[in-house]
Amino acid sequence: MSTLLNKLHGWYQENHRKLPWRDIDDPYRIWLSEVILQQTRIDQGTSYYLRFVDHYPTVSDLAAAPLDEVLKLWEGLGYYSRARNLHRAAQIIVQELGGTFPTDYKSVRALPGIGDYTAGAVLSFAYDQPYPAVDGNVLRVLSRLYASEEPIDTTQGKKYYTALAKQLVEKAPHPGLHNQAMIELGALICTPQLCDCSRCPVRSDCPSADSPERAGLPRKALKLSVQPRHLGYLFVLKRTSDHWQTILYQRPTGDIWAKLYQPTLLYDQPVAPQEELLLQPLPEP
Ligand code: SF4
Repeated sequence: MSTLLNKLHGWYQENHRKLPWRDIDDPYRIWLSEVILQQTRIDQGTSYYLRFVDHYPTVSDLAAAPLDEVLKLWEGLGYYSRARNLHRAAQIIVQELGGTFPTDYKSVRALPGIGDYTAGAVLSFAYDQPYPAVDGNVLRVLSRLYASEEPIDTTQGKKYYTALAKQLVEKAPHPGLHNQAMIELGALICTPQLCDCSRCPVRSDCPSADSPERAGLPRKALKLSVQPRHLGYLFVLKRTSDHWQTILYQRPTGDIWAKLYQPTLLYDQPVAPQEELLLQPLPEP
């Protein structure tokens, strides 16, 4: 196993992408980047990350900011509960944990919005602690590297792959570098569409190398069922002396876009109504 780890770590040091949150050990910035990059592409997330560290260079700056300001800065990224949890967790760190990002797994995991992956990522990247950080990239790499048919989307499968990742990270001389190398391998070489095995540093240790069937790994047990939902809005405008104002309402919690503002909701149905709405140009105010 040590040969495999050496090859993987050497490849990472030579080939990893230079990103603003890489090669740093500030847990606040690492945490911030991980939250921004959930469900977000790197090219889109980078500008948000830079904007956040510019506005809030430290966790204390983020904790002191009004939530509305944080949400405004988050605008366009979606999944706004991430921003709310980030802000709430920053306040807990400042008010209850002395302003320092915790160093023990239990305290990190107890913060709002931090799951097993983010806890493992921050503790390993920032403090070099040997916790696994198992995201979609790592699940794919592990499933191919161990030629495993175990589905990745069941409780049992998640436990199985987390145990494999734990075995590897506990043997790694630098756990933070190791976790980043696994993620980077999945992002650059062992990708969903293509196993670029000819460029892979662990090719000689991988039973799935150059195997078209195994490129179909990882397996999933559940099929995602997508329910269509059509929301129709009416823009109600109020005329003032020199401009138009749009009347907005705050959305309820417990649904998408919780607490965000929207125009007057006309309908929210699985199928869009067929009637056509007549659109009229506005007169000058
Ligand atoms: S050899 Fe191919 S299948 Fe195996 S880990 Fe590398 S890229 Fe993935």
